[in-house]
Amino acid sequence: MDRFTYSKTIGAFVLCALISLQISAQSELTIEPVKDGLYMIVGPGGNVGVRVTPEGVILIDDKFPRNFDEIQSLVASVSDEPVKYVINSHHHGDHTGSNAGYIQIAEIIAHKNARDNMLRGNQDAPPRLVYSQETSVFLGGAEVRAYYMGTGHTNGDSVIYFPDLKTVHGGDLLHGIAPFIDYANGGSSRGWVSTINGMLELDFDTAIPGHGALMDRRDVLAFRNQMEAVRDHMKALIRDGTTAEQAPEMIQNPDLSWTQAADGLFMQRSVPGFYAEIARELE
Ligand SMILES: [Zn+2]
Repeated sequence: MDRFTYSKTIGAFVLCALISLQISAQSELTIEPVKDGLYMIVGPGGNVGVRVTPEGVILIDDKFPRNFDEIQSLVASVSDEPVKYVINSHHHGDHTGSNAGYIQIAEIIAHKNARDNMLRGNQDAPPRLVYSQETSVFLGGAEVRAYYMGTGHTNGDSVIYFPDLKTVHGGDLLHGIAPFIDYANGGSSRGWVSTINGMLELDFDTAIPGHGALMDRRDVLAFRNQMEAVRDHMKALIRDGTTAEQAPEMIQNPDLSWTQAADGLFMQRSVPGFYAEIARELE
């Protein structure tokens, strides 16, 4: 191969690589209907709720920074109205990453602890509006309500409720595979159970989880039951003398999918803090 052909080949290769990179960056996400006027954007990062009204769009979460343009074009495929509000379910970067884009064009709302966690983590574009117990956005005849029901995944999780659609967006309080208890940001397994019990007091039949497929009420109940079962399992292990070092191995139980190393990496990451939390309860 002469030098010219060689550099042409390399050039074509680089161009192809660039094009395929661009294509994958542009078509990472898809939008799916949930109910009349409510959609969910799925793909890498937290599931985005899209509430469409005649006077504007309300988003729940906004994935990673690179997803801003694609979220905007997927919203445009179901509504001519602009995004006017974004509610961050909690502070994690796969749910708040496109805040930097949205803060230019919309109001961002989160629980006050989620904002504090964002500031502590030096995250971009923290919300300008916060609440402590409950807040609502009223737009175009629709209401989107956010409740703080206590600690769980973090200390700043919102349970977001669409009352007219009997649907909740649980952020990472609901997870399709296995939960992660973020102890460094105030997470708690005990709090999580009571937070899910609070969620179950709402009248809903459909739930958008932070990650994974759409859930129904039974799935949310099963999630709460597994959280209780995993807590009971850890209590029994500690009572039997299991040490913190043995806990990651010993917690694995084929009847509890979250604890399996293969399925439950998120849960496995939580084990040191989880052990400490349960040991304190038993003191
Ligand atoms: Zn999270």
